[in-house]
Order: sequence, then structure tokens, then C-alpha cells
Amino acid sequence: MKLSIIGTGYVGLVTGTCFAEVGHHVICVDNDAAKVKMLQAGGIPIYEPGLEELVKKNVAAGRLKFTASTAEGVQNSDVIFIAVPTPPQPDGSVDLSYIERVARDIAAAMTSYKIVVDKSTVPVKTGEKVTETIKRYCTAKTEFDVVSNPEFLREGFAVGDLMKPDRVVIGVGSQRPVAAMTEIYTPFNAPIIVTDINSAELIKHAANSFLALKISYINAIATVCEAAGANVQEVAQGIGLDERIGRRFLNAGIGFGGSCFPKDLSAFIKISEQVGYEFKLLKEVQRINADQMERFVKKITDTLWVLKDKKIGVLGLAFKQNTDDVRSSPAIDLCQRLLKDGATLRVHDPKAMDKAKSFLPNVTYVDDMNAVAEGCDALVVATEWDEFKQLDLARAKAGLTHPIMFDGRNLFDPAAMEKLGWIYKSVGR
Ligand code: NAD
Repeated sequence: MKLSIIGTGYVGLVTGTCFAEVGHHVICVDNDAAKVKMLQAGGIPIYEPGLEELVKKNVAAGRLKFTASTAEGVQNSDVIFIAVPTPPQPDGSVDLSYIERVARDIAAAMTSYKIVVDKSTVPVKTGEKVTETIKRYCTAKTEFDVVSNPEFLREGFAVGDLMKPDRVVIGVGSQRPVAAMTEIYTPFNAPIIVTDINSAELIKHAANSFLALKISYINAIATVCEAAGANVQEVAQGIGLDERIGRRFLNAGIGFGGSCFPKDLSAFIKISEQVGYEFKLLKEVQRINADQMERFVKKITDTLWVLKDKKIGVLGLAFKQNTDDVRSSPAIDLCQRLLKDGATLRVHDPKAMDKAKSFLPNVTYVDDMNAVAEGCDALVVATEWDEFKQLDLARAKAGLTHPIMFDGRNLFDPAAMEKLGWIYKSVGR
């Protein structure tokens, strides 16, 4: 099928590439001319495992193209996906100006029937607004259908998630776009849920809020474990093997972050408020998440006492492993708090150092994770990168003035660390 994707970021680029991989012809559009130029020249603006090879392969096969012109994308495709940002506003509600802008651009370029699919995460009833907007701005007055098709990919695993989704949600206002949408997704062999647009939009916010809730739940359990002398990992294992609960998203730490969970949670609280329901449960999820960071910072200051003139090594800057994304990263938040209290930082991340530089201009970036601890008063683990588990502990210990580690991601075994002579503080253990 002939598809275009408006917005070539984490979602748009991976989605477009995977659509091309299964044989569709895809034009990825972005209004960031520099990004388009880079992609046209063979560069990849984000780090996502497996993506680069797939982009190159599909560009070479002539199935994947990049352009800065929305009109070009719209006129050369039957189905147009919207994958632009939906950032939070100060009151927690969603800024829908990017969606509105794109709806107008699509409307202006449409000269024949199109299916306009919203893939961005949007509040329930956005589909109605997009429909109204396209009707208003489409000078050619052609027919169209608006579809909601929320995206559930996880950064760091995006290619795998796109190629083998748990489910595909398609929200429609009429039967007309169902066949084309089903055809697009048939090669992915996933269960397809066809529903109404409002339900599809709500599924995304309900899903992300539940995942955030699960993280806050285990973080609250971690606090109880710490106070009671229990081990949160053992507890997570014990409850997670129950199939009704599941082990995933039960890792205690310094809280969730990233460009999705915090914003989707605030949005869902706001959406619920607007329809007359105060979602106190989700407000508590936010509170627990904020507390989790406070508690970890307190652990550091309780041990090191005064942070002024202390040198701290930090492992991890990305909001989670396998990505270079630092948007709303708890690791960056933590670094900023330590800096504010007067510490100096030596930091390392396998992929996110470039993107962190604008948020953390005054720290020392260290290319080798094993060299981060050198000359430091303590070492902090802030992101759960698997490679940190291979840290040369003997070298790190030798480099530190005192062998103190604050592990915000529970990567090491407390008993083994103590045996090695570390003062080791983790979360909920
Ligand atoms: P992103 O910031 O990485 O990418 C968005 C892209 O849209 C940018 O490249 C930007 O230049 C482009 N853009 C903005 N306005 C445009 C316009 N008028 N015309 C053309 N291009 C335009 O964002 P993202 O992380 O890909 O997220 C996009 C949407 O998908 C958001 O609603 C987000 O909540 C949702 N989502 C994100 C993820 C994720 O893990 N990142 C997962 C599921 C859903």
C-alpha cells in the first residue's frame, strides 16, 4: 500500500521503516529540514537497536523515502499516519497544536479520498476534532476517514515491538477504512482490535497509566520492604510469577520517566477531570513516583552528608536502557539535583551522552564506563543498562576515595557487594 507518515521521530521513523519492511511504499515527512536532509543522506537521527540496517535496506529497495513536504506525502499515499508530538502543557493537559497543524496541512493537500490515521497519543475525542478540522480546511472537499491507531512501541525495543506487536488497535467511525487498515497490518500477524475512535484513543492512555501504576506499586512495596528488612526483588519475583500479575514492570528503582509515562498520566488525569471523574488513584501514582526520587536523593545526602565539593560518578543518563532518549529522564533529574547541591559529576551513558549535553552542560562526560569512578566520592547507577552489570568493580572501587555505590536500578547483589567491601545502597533491599 502507499503510505505516508507525518512526523519522523521515534514513532514515525520506526513505524514507517517497519511498514516498508513488510512491503508497503512509505514516505516519511518531517518539517525539520535538517532531520530530513540527514535521513536523505543516509544518517539516522535516533538510536534504536536494529533500526539503521532496516532503514538502509528499505531505502535501497526504493520502498522508503523522506521529504519535508507534507503535500508530497499526502498526494502520493492513500493512508496518512500522523506521528507528531503531543507534549504536556503546564496544567497537565495535552498540547494538540501539532496535531491541528498537521490536520490543516493534510486537508490543504488532499485532492482525493484519504484515510487519515492518528498514531500520536491523544485525548479521547481528538478524532472528532481532527475530522472537523479537515472538513473545514479541505478546499477540494474530498471524502476522507479519520482513524485512531495508537502506538504501543517501547523505545529501545521499538523495531521488535513494531514487527511483532501484542495487538493492533484500530478505531473507526465507519466501516470504509477497515479493509485498508487491516491490509496494512496483516503482515504483522497480530490480533487486530477494531473499535470506535473514542475507545481506541482511551485504550492508549489507559494502558500507559496502568503500566505507570504498576511501577509505582512496586516502588511503594520497595519502601515497605526497606523499612521492614525485606527484599523487593524477592517480593517482585514471588508476586510476578502469578500469571494474573506478571513479572514485567515490577522493578523498583528511582521512578519512571521518559517522554510518555509522565505526560500520558497527567493527560489521563486531566481528561478524567474534564469528564467529571477525579482519578485519585493516578494522582497517587504520580506522588509515589516523585517520592521515589526524593527518597533516593536523601539516601545519597544521608550518606555523603554535604554534597558541596563532592565528586560523584553517574552511570546512565537515558530514561531507560537501549535508547539515547533523555526526555524527562529520571537520571538527568537526579544529576541536576546533585549539581544544585554543589556536587561535581563525571557521567557516562552508552548512547545518550550527546543528547544529554544540552541538559547537563557542566559535567565531565567519560567515554569508558570503567573510568567514571576515578577520583569520585561515590558512584551512582541511574539507568538500568545491561552493560553496567559488567562494570569492572575492582577498578571502580580502586578509583573511588571510598567504595560507596548508590544503585538506583538494583543491578548488583547487595550481599556480593558487601563481601567485596562496598558500602552499597540500592532500592527496597
Ligand atoms: P518525536 O518528537 O520523536 O517526533 C515527532 C516528529 O514530528 C519530530 O521529528 C518533529 O520534527 C515532527 N513534526 C512536528 N511537527 C510537524 C509537522 N507539522 N509536520 C511534520 N513533522 C512535524 O516524538 P515521538 O516520540 O515519535 O512521539 C510522537 C507521538 O507518538 C507522541 O504523541 C507520543 O506520545 C506518541 N508515542 C510515543 C512513543 C515513544 O516511545 N516515543 C510511543 C508511543 C506513542
